[in-house]
Amino acid sequence: MTRVATDAICYRDAYLGAVEARVMAIEDAEDGPLVVLDRTVFYPGGGGQPSDRGLMLRAGDGRSWTVAGAKKDGSSIVHALETSPDGPPTVGDRVRVDLDWARRLSLMRTHTALHALCGVVWRDHGALVTGGNMEPGSGRMDFEFETMSGDLVESIEATVNAELAMSRDVRVSVLPRDEAFAIPDLVRTKVNLLPAGIEEIRTVEIVGLDLQADGGTHVANTREVGRIRVTGYESKGRINKRIRIALEDPA
Ligand SMILES: [Zn+2]
Repeated sequence: MTRVATDAICYRDAYLGAVEARVMAIEDAEDGPLVVLDRTVFYPGGGGQPSDRGLMLRAGDGRSWTVAGAKKDGSSIVHALETSPDGPPTVGDRVRVDLDWARRLSLMRTHTALHALCGVVWRDHGALVTGGNMEPGSGRMDFEFETMSGDLVESIEATVNAELAMSRDVRVSVLPRDEAFAIPDLVRTKVNLLPAGIEEIRTVEIVGLDLQADGGTHVANTREVGRIRVTGYESKGRINKRIRIALEDPA
């Protein structure tokens, strides 16, 4: 498959739900065609946030394909289409890609809620994040958090909701690697594990609460998240603990 760099719009504009693009490469795979475009609004997945789903529509004849997912392959973003009786699109086609916007927005709110959780747990308890995962409307984070308890988790829920209600702006920046390394707290998100070849580091800041190296999509202000509930917590050992959250209003 010809590898063409895809302009990945989601990293600079998370609110763009559709874009016109050109088909640059196609490969037939078992589950359906894999399509590389010159640009896309699809998030390719990563950092615990699943890839987007949606539609690809061809301008010429109005045919459309379901995009079941997307993934990064080098500098390309590959769209996985469901097989259609009309066959795959063709290299050179003008298409429009449309996100399942309700799903994406729910992921953006969930992702931002997890950052707020992470920020509160770090600020108030000094606990490091070791991992996380999310679906639209719910997610989990793992912490090195020996002192976690039910009472503590209840107070964390209240604090996270108070922080979200403060209408804090969420800012995305791209920093030179050295500058990013100079921010002490970024280390907790394992920025030091990034491969040496990466020259720039994208950071996501909930102003006044949390700053992380991050590749995902987020809402622009915490008020868009609404409130969260802690839906569970588990010990994964003496030190490692898991907290599960859900958006109070997932839609
Ligand atoms: Zn994130």
